[in-house]
Amino acid sequence: MPSAATPARILGFALRLVTGALLSACGDGGPPDGPRGVLLITCDTLRADRLGLYGHSLGTSPNLDALAREALVFDNAWSTVPITGPALSALLTGRMPEELGLDSNRTLLAGAAATLAESLAGAGVETAAIVSNWVLRRRSELPDAGVQQGFAHFDDRMEVAEKSRPNLRERLAPDTTDAALAWLDGRTDERPLFLWVHYQDPHGPYTAPADCLVEPEPGVPAEPELALGTDQVGHGTLPAYQVTDGERRPAVYRARYEAEIRFFDRELGRLIDGLRARGWLERVLLVFTADHGESLGEHGYYFSHGQNLHRELLRVPLFLRPPGGAEVTRRSNAPASHLDLYPTVLNAFGLAPGPTRGIDLLAGEPPAERVLPQYLRGAWGATGARYRLIAEKGRRQVFDLAADSGELNDLAPSRPELVRALAEGHQAFVRRLAPATLRA
Ligand SMILES: [Zn+2]
Repeated sequence: MPSAATPARILGFALRLVTGALLSACGDGGPPDGPRGVLLITCDTLRADRLGLYGHSLGTSPNLDALAREALVFDNAWSTVPITGPALSALLTGRMPEELGLDSNRTLLAGAAATLAESLAGAGVETAAIVSNWVLRRRSELPDAGVQQGFAHFDDRMEVAEKSRPNLRERLAPDTTDAALAWLDGRTDERPLFLWVHYQDPHGPYTAPADCLVEPEPGVPAEPELALGTDQVGHGTLPAYQVTDGERRPAVYRARYEAEIRFFDRELGRLIDGLRARGWLERVLLVFTADHGESLGEHGYYFSHGQNLHRELLRVPLFLRPPGGAEVTRRSNAPASHLDLYPTVLNAFGLAPGPTRGIDLLAGEPPAERVLPQYLRGAWGATGARYRLIAEKGRRQVFDLAADSGELNDLAPSRPELVRALAEGHQAFVRRLAPATLRA
């Protein structure tokens, strides 16, 4: 159902970036005040449960935690697919990856897709993106396809060769932060702004600076070393692209993964300091999430993603920090999805999103009983407030999010009513809106 633009109430702040009003106010030449835009920060391969704001105790994310203390934090937030390109394409369109025809990073968001940035640009918002993952780069051979659609400024400069796959390039966190601040400093446009900054660092191979590493405790009992895999799947072996220094101990790789999070967080802190010094932190709605998580040994998979639909790959951090920060932390356990960010951001600018799969997360307490969809190459998931269904290879499994965070105890055989309810909830979600129609 189309939803009208709604003032944000849940944080007790008025956030309505009425574009026309801002344009005329800025045209007066007076000092900028009031909300001026939306800053979307995404981080690749970042598990919610490895962050302080979600209870992790190893000091991985002090800067992210500080931002979240001034925000509305979602404890039950989900990606739609554990693969970068499809996940971020879904986030930027509010459409499920399967209706966008996106199965892998080898497929690109179609040029005909309606993106958030296109809608905002069409309404007079300045749009800019700084991305640091190779799969998000603009393709010269397909200039209309991909996630850059609608961004007037799209910075995909990546000059560092990935350690294990030198044909792939990336941009490290210090350069991502520098690029964002330099672009803001060079900006002369006074229109409201939508800026997307994507950090890459927790994505393997894990190569953070040594001062970010906290050595793992000796395993008790010792965990078997892993064989060096010849593919990138990581099922019982180390994915080939992850292997560094011939290391085979999984605990070392987990520590290195957390080191990457500290590295990202340190540079995020520098970005936040820079935004604060320039007055931006007072004037933007800040949206933070990750594209997907990472398998760290759960369900037999090591240091990879894109291989299954379990929680460690799909539960993501998500918080919304209002301009200036909320006085108190608000937390919501209602199911929330990347699909919700499309209407949430449009409404923040005072724009009606039209028919959309998501809901405005700032329009009030989200419904507690929604069933959210996930997808992976024909397999699908359905996540509610308490239970999750995973349907793959003709088998349906149900897990209790509250009692079984590891998703080890399949309730489907004993609770067929849960299987039915989640499957019906998934179908209802899919059918609620006509599929996106995209040109081939
Ligand atoms: Zn990713």
